[in-house]
Amino acid sequence: MKKTKPELPNPRPCLECHETRPIAARGLCERCRSRARRENLKPFTPASAVSQGKAARNFAQLISILEDCKVSSKSVTVILREFLPYSGQPQVVIEAYTRAIREREEANKLEEQ
Ligand SMILES: [Zn+2]
Repeated sequence: MKKTKPELPNPRPCLECHETRPIAARGLCERCRSRARRENLKPFTPASAVSQGKAARNFAQLISILEDCKVSSKSVTVILREFLPYSGQPQVVIEAYTRAIREREEANKLEEQ
């Protein structure tokens, strides 16, 4: 005879939002599970974030605007550092830019000494 797990009632309270809803997986309703999945892809981005393609275009436009307006390198660093977490780009891209910004700052500091 086949053993089966005791069936949990479905819908039941979601572990995240505590609303009684149909449970999709791991105790989470579909809405909370989707949100968790999106947050894993883009940890700092609001759930309604832009697509990766749009994020890359936005970022390129921002760089272009900063260049057109001759924003100082110091200010560009500040603006990019603040903007990157909201950019909707993949975490690896954000980390690469953040590292590049830090390296450039350190190089500038050495030049000033
Ligand atoms: Zn939920």
